[in-house]
Amino acid sequence: MYCTTIEDSHVCSLRRVVGRWNVGVGVAAFTAVLVAPLMSTEFHAHATEPPAATATEPAAATELAPETEKPHAMVSAAVSATDALDRLAEGNKRFAAEASMHDHESMSRRSALMKGQHPFAVIVGCADSRVPPELIFDQGFGDLFVIRNAGNLVATDVTASIEYAVRHLDTQLVVVMGHEGCGAITAALESAETRSHEPMELQAVLKMIEVTLSDHKHPADPKERVSAAVRANVVAAVKRLRYLAAEHADPELMKAKFVGAVYNMKSGTVDFFE
Ligand SMILES: [Zn+2]
Repeated sequence: MYCTTIEDSHVCSLRRVVGRWNVGVGVAAFTAVLVAPLMSTEFHAHATEPPAATATEPAAATELAPETEKPHAMVSAAVSATDALDRLAEGNKRFAAEASMHDHESMSRRSALMKGQHPFAVIVGCADSRVPPELIFDQGFGDLFVIRNAGNLVATDVTASIEYAVRHLDTQLVVVMGHEGCGAITAALESAETRSHEPMELQAVLKMIEVTLSDHKHPADPKERVSAAVRANVVAAVKRLRYLAAEHADPELMKAKFVGAVYNMKSGTVDFFE
């Protein structure tokens, strides 16, 4: 049922790399597929035939795994959306209090993950260097399935990545996280004349963000205006994901929980909302 649209054929392409994903090559294959110009005619022509992975096979897991693995390093099974949200909130609380544990960063953890992954949450965040989800939520290797771009925009490639995580990695929580003072959102609020000086691709992205802000109120105060737009952009993304889940009538995708969030860079805290 998934190969009838551009977006769906992308998911089908992803499925071809599923078998290799968990042993490392999937990362390269996934990158090769997603970095393709998703909106271009080239993508239309080659959507069902992903580029071949070029990465070399990693060493077998048994060669890297230690003789004895620490219990905490084992790969956990699927985590419920409620528990996942609690885990994120607790991790952010540690981070904001400068009490991060930096767990799941050991060699034994990395070795355990050679066998597979079950990230407990998908985070769609901004590419801004000041908002790294793993640090903000005090998580380590294998914990989060992170997708980032300017303005945490949920376009086709992002949707496909989310579908992959929910369907194939048993991830049940999807968080779209904006952040205060987002440059992409600020730029999207500029006039079309101002944006016209940017490269065409960037203009296209800013236009897509602008569309998500069409219904929101525009406070007169510039700072409040950006804050309102950051939140509105997240709300629009969550709505879009819920709509797509319902449109596909996919039981697995529909059971995922979609949550919005905004990160405050000054306090280090994340405000979740549904
Ligand atoms: Zn940003």
